[in-house]
Amino acid sequence: MTKTIWYEALEQFNKAAKVLKLDKSIVELLTNPKRIFQVSIPVRMDDGKMKVFQGFRVQFNDLRGPTKGGIRYHPGVSIDEVKALAFWMTWKNTVVDVPFGGGKGGVICNPKEMSDGELEKLSRGYIEAMHKFIGPEKDIPAPDVYTNPQVMAWMVDEYHRIEGHNVFGMITGKPLELGGSEGRAQATAQGGVYVLEEALKTLRIKKPTIAIQGFGNAGMTAAELAAKDGYKVVAVSDSKGGIYDPKGLDIKKAMDIKKKTKTVMNYKGAKKILNEELLELNVDVLIPAALESVITSKNANKIKAKIILELANGPASAEAREILFKKGQIAIPDILANSGGVAVSYFEWVQNNIGYSWSEKEVLEKLKIKMCDAFDSVYSVSKEFKVDFGTAAYIHAIRKMVKVLEWRGSLKKG
Ligand code: GLU
Repeated sequence: MTKTIWYEALEQFNKAAKVLKLDKSIVELLTNPKRIFQVSIPVRMDDGKMKVFQGFRVQFNDLRGPTKGGIRYHPGVSIDEVKALAFWMTWKNTVVDVPFGGGKGGVICNPKEMSDGELEKLSRGYIEAMHKFIGPEKDIPAPDVYTNPQVMAWMVDEYHRIEGHNVFGMITGKPLELGGSEGRAQATAQGGVYVLEEALKTLRIKKPTIAIQGFGNAGMTAAELAAKDGYKVVAVSDSKGGIYDPKGLDIKKAMDIKKKTKTVMNYKGAKKILNEELLELNVDVLIPAALESVITSKNANKIKAKIILELANGPASAEAREILFKKGQIAIPDILANSGGVAVSYFEWVQNNIGYSWSEKEVLEKLKIKMCDAFDSVYSVSKEFKVDFGTAAYIHAIRKMVKVLEWRGSLKKG
């Protein structure tokens, strides 16, 4: 039986809950979503025919603040996946210490086959269906896989149309000209690189070689920042496959080719490899930056990287993390590694609320502090309990959540 992604998410949580001997009723409270919405979004397509899309939003947990998390456009979206992603947002927001609960949205669609006009209608339709339940103090969406600042702009504009006035704080990841924040576009990758720098210092690795799976916003920007740091990016890939040059790739060239031809496979002068081969390369750092479940108990034994930086959501299962840990490798979990995106979303929301904007330098300084603090906390919990980083991140976050439950009166102070 293949495990569902929601089951995988629960497994990660349960491992930590077991270490903490968490009461069954608390486990139940923290692993059931507060609200789930499913909507049908009719869109008149360019050929004149009507197509009905299925959209979801899960508001998983709002105990620490309004629910927060992106909206994904992908043919593989399912309620099971959105639920897992919303659950992960709850713990990610706790680990990186922003005052938000966890939420996530998704629409089953293939944006690669849709025109801009169709995507605009779909994005406006999503907000029309959900606007009552979304807002700066309720639930704040953002970009995720195959959504971007343009999609956020259509959404904030649709909200404006319905409400009759601008409400910039209802969504983050907006274009700069429309209430966006400096630093948000590169935030996920930049946050990951800050964490990576900490991990490299801990392991005393000076000039790492890096392989990156996924060359979208997060993967591409991570490659660019890593190259800037003087690290050697030897392999990158997208959904079509990967390229590998042990001497190091020219990242500017790979980005150009990806932008022009939609795949890195047209890069000349490097060996073509499969995505699975990229994961198993003999490198110092592996960055899965695409989709879920690429590192499982099936291939964890073949992974050689000393550090695995989970820039995607859910790329490694709890079992895989455990196998890597036993082999002495460090898997920095998604809820820590990619939390830079939502950290800067938080800064964007604050700036919208106070009506003042910070410079890129100010935003990145604040981001660095958040990422280093989160890394230090998870690192010390991993030492305290002698557990892998994934379990440590959950232990750290669950402890914080338990404090919230105590203050709210749902749990006796212990
Ligand atoms: N989609 C991103 C994530 O998975 C960003 C969420 C946000 O900024 O709210 O963390």
